[in-house]
Amino acid sequence: MLQKSLCLMLFLWFSVLPFDSSAKAPATNACTVTKAYYDRLLSGGSKSSEAELRLFMSLMPKGGDIHHHFSGATYAETYLDMIRKAGCWVNRNDYTVICPEDTGSLKDTLSVDNLRKDNRALAAFFSRWSDKDYFNHSHDTDPPDTQFFGTFAYFSKILSRNYPAFYKEGIGILKRRAKIENVQYLETMLVSSGYKKTDPAFDNAIRSAYGDERKFRSCLDNFMVLIQKDPGANDSVQRYRDLVNTCSEGVDDETFTLRYQSYVSRTLSPSEFFSGLYAAFQEASNSALVVGVNVVSAENNPVSMSDYRVQMQMFRYLKEKFPAVKTTMHAGELTMGMVRPEELAYHITDALFVAGAGRVGHGVDIAYENNAPMVLDYLRQKQVPIEVCLTSNEFILGVKGAAHPIDLYVRNGVPLVIATDDPGVSRNNLANEYLLLATRYGYSYDFIKQVVGNSIRHSFMSDQDKVRNSRLLQRKFDEFESRIAAFAAARNTRMR
Ligand SMILES: [Zn+2]
Repeated sequence: MLQKSLCLMLFLWFSVLPFDSSAKAPATNACTVTKAYYDRLLSGGSKSSEAELRLFMSLMPKGGDIHHHFSGATYAETYLDMIRKAGCWVNRNDYTVICPEDTGSLKDTLSVDNLRKDNRALAAFFSRWSDKDYFNHSHDTDPPDTQFFGTFAYFSKILSRNYPAFYKEGIGILKRRAKIENVQYLETMLVSSGYKKTDPAFDNAIRSAYGDERKFRSCLDNFMVLIQKDPGANDSVQRYRDLVNTCSEGVDDETFTLRYQSYVSRTLSPSEFFSGLYAAFQEASNSALVVGVNVVSAENNPVSMSDYRVQMQMFRYLKEKFPAVKTTMHAGELTMGMVRPEELAYHITDALFVAGAGRVGHGVDIAYENNAPMVLDYLRQKQVPIEVCLTSNEFILGVKGAAHPIDLYVRNGVPLVIATDDPGVSRNNLANEYLLLATRYGYSYDFIKQVVGNSIRHSFMSDQDKVRNSRLLQRKFDEFESRIAAFAAARNTRMR
């Protein structure tokens, strides 16, 4: 356990005394009592109460969730509501959305009302649109990564069906949930720019130019001129800005802030990837609400793997064109067996040293990277955080517990943030991620508070918003610790 000198003293003190010591604690000592209470819960071994620790994490302020996909955060139940409202149906064979204008037979469709009455079909729907019931009974399943990333194919049709109203509705639901969960900030990946320019000649040229910097840059220079002349690019950036503005109306308040990341999918061809990334940078540079750019989709996809280095160079190029735009990248969301061993050796390294990522999403393959010591040193010196998504990593990669590199990062002074990734697909929440952090790795309360603080400190919101949110977080911790001290006191009074 880290940072345990004070906590250890307190723990020893509370271990030999009845737990009612906290009952006598003055209000100003609420933080000390909370630490001792947390240590007591954590150190109980088989006698410890996971439910009580969950209660603790549920009430605890959790700052921001800054690795968060909007469509993957939306629960399948909400999508069913949207399908019903849109007057569409669900295909009873593959559980895709069917709408009135779709051609073909409607005999294989189920209305949402009938789907909800059919337990077997409803269970099958949830198992397609999320990870629900993946492990708890025997049935035919896709591999976890295929299952997880496959869910996203279902979402976009219904979201775009009532555009932008369903996006706004979804944001409202996520805000209400965040407030209930004591989360004050979401930095969500709302949607990709939707702009792409397909150009097979460019695809061939840029791939063959890789390794020749002058040729590579000249190829990008020429292609960017074409994009800038394309009215479709500007239209798409404008449409994105309108969507963001609509979704944000009336959302920020004294205790909640919402910001967005734009992104591009790494499974696209080079021309589509570069044009989409250009639009994403434009979006982030044109709106104060769009605070960063990301790259998404399965990292082990054949295109993601074969074009990884080309894509990192494209990222670098656009970062030079848009120096004020902040970037975070999914990188190292891989593990042994998923790809060939040599392909585990460089993704985080390139995301940092070629693309210049300001944060790293997942970073799970660090122990396989050739330059891991240098990467760890860089992350510590520059204080570049790793966005750790424990549930997602366990499901998609099968990496959990001691096999997860979280402690490798911590021991090397790399800042962490804890995030949900896709809580609607994974059917988890941020409290659950902190519960895993505590029970699996035994970190101290002081350390966990520091990780929560990182979610504001290392977010991409403006400095002014950070100051406001840091003050709010401090107030929230004061309230939380008073509440825990009172709860522990009452509990111990009853136990006498
Ligand atoms: Zn993600």
